[in-house]
Amino acid sequence: MALPDLARSAVVALPYTQAFSRSAGSSSRRRRYAAERARLEAVLADGLSGVAWRQRKTYLSILVEKPFHNSDAINVVDRIADAVKRAIRVDDNWFCLLRVDWLIVKQNPRIYVTVGQEEGGDQVACSVCGQLKGPAEMTSRGKHSECRLCNAEIGAARYRALGRART
Ligand SMILES: [Zn+2]
Repeated sequence: MALPDLARSAVVALPYTQAFSRSAGSSSRRRRYAAERARLEAVLADGLSGVAWRQRKTYLSILVEKPFHNSDAINVVDRIADAVKRAIRVDDNWFCLLRVDWLIVKQNPRIYVTVGQEEGGDQVACSVCGQLKGPAEMTSRGKHSECRLCNAEIGAARYRALGRART
């Protein structure tokens, strides 16, 4: 699988935290993590704000520098993706993971979040053929629209069906 050629991207380094991990724990700990997450989400949003993001496929890479081997890098994916989604206002059905990796770093460990998109503007998925196309190639705006080609084919099929019905 070829790696995408990212035309726009941004990297944000957050201080290492367990606040993005999907771990339960006591209610006081959960409150502390929620507060820390809110603070770091603001840092993330600020770091991603300089790019004109589009509604299109969005590639996420996460490198976790963890201070101890007993924390789990995979665990942070959901919450970080969620935070990125809110920060760049791109629906999460456009998201995919390019890479999730970790290193053990004892001094000043960080979580690096890289977000990228390929060249081009907003896209819409055709509800019939599934191809991703620009809004101008669609017959209606919104999530459940058909591309002009599919729309024309459906129109032609209806016309043929109508012709059969008459004969
Ligand atoms: Zn189509």
